[in-house]
Amino acid sequence: MTQQRIDFIRDSIRDIPDFPKPGIVFKDITTLLADPRAFNMCLDLMAERYDGRDIDAIVGIESRGFIFGAALAARMRKAFIPARKPGKLPSETFQVEYELEYGNDAIEIHRDAIRPGERALIVDDLIATGGTAWATARLIERLGGILLGAAFVIELEFLEGAQRLAPVETYSLVKY
Ligand code: AMP
Repeated sequence: MTQQRIDFIRDSIRDIPDFPKPGIVFKDITTLLADPRAFNMCLDLMAERYDGRDIDAIVGIESRGFIFGAALAARMRKAFIPARKPGKLPSETFQVEYELEYGNDAIEIHRDAIRPGERALIVDDLIATGGTAWATARLIERLGGILLGAAFVIELEFLEGAQRLAPVETYSLVKY
């Protein structure tokens, strides 16, 4: 039953070759989002996985992590917290930089988003190298939060993002 749902989700994701640059196969989730059965299956599977865990907040990563993270937070009746690109959050923030294939990027969170001892789950659409999720994990730690895990719709296993995130436990629905 679970495998059927995972296959259904996999079939709803569209591959776009050479986007945004040559050699990259972009995993397009707009086709998944346009199918309410597929979108709800993602939320069902994630909610089932974390049901009964003591979670205070779901941290969604800009921008596609907002779509799944906010929907999951509403469904599980948890707080939703956005982790955003620099310069977007209006109140005081902490920032963590991380390495990309070429150059650096950074991610920010509001300083009062999580209180010490609160338990958080990271949600994003896709884990590739794991750099973005790794930086978000550092932000949660910096606020004194306890990171319970990180959930993704898609994992590109060959990029070994889960290893980069370890010992944080990762959960992904569709693996390539
Ligand atoms: P990373 O920090 O390398 O794990 O990259 C993760 C972020 O980049 C996610 O927020 C994804 O949305 C995006 N991303 C990376 N590679 C792809 C891909 N092949 N298709 C779609 N999105 C991607």
